[in-house]
Amino acid sequence: MKLTEHFTLDEFTRSTTANRLKIDNSVPADLMPNIKLTVSQLELVRQALGTPIIITSGYRCPALNARVGGVATSAHTKGLAVDFHSSFGTPKEICQRLIDAGVEFDKLIQEHNQWVHIGFSPSKNRQIVLTAVKNGGKTVYLNGLV
Ligand SMILES: [Zn+2]
Repeated sequence: MKLTEHFTLDEFTRSTTANRLKIDNSVPADLMPNIKLTVSQLELVRQALGTPIIITSGYRCPALNARVGGVATSAHTKGLAVDFHSSFGTPKEICQRLIDAGVEFDKLIQEHNQWVHIGFSPSKNRQIVLTAVKNGGKTVYLNGLV
C-alpha cells in the first residue's frame, strides 16, 4: 500500500527477523494514524536530504521489538520511529543536515556510525539529539552529535 509519494506501508513492516521467526508484524489499525504522521514527516526528511532514504527498521510489533532487543517503550512499537540510511552521507552528516534544515523530530539519534534513528511525536516534538556508542559492550547515549 502506497502511503505517500515516496513511501509504502511495506517499507515500515518488512523485517528479516520477523520473517525468519514467522512473527506477524502487520500494523494494527489503531496505529495507522501514527504511521501516516511518520510518513508525512519522512517526506520532509527526504526533501531536506535530496536523496532517497532506506528504511532498515520501521514499525515493530511488541514481539519483534523484544527479539531485536528494543526497549519496551520504543517509539518503533507505536509506529512513530524509523531507522534509516541514505546515500546523502554518513549518519552524522545526515543528522547535521536535518538539524540545519530545521526538520522537526522528537528524537534524532546517530547510531554507532551505522544508521540514523528518527522519532516523531503526535503532540510535541522535543528536538532531542543523541549519539549512540558502545561502551564496554553496552550502548550509551551521549548528548548531541559526537
Ligand atoms: Zn530506532
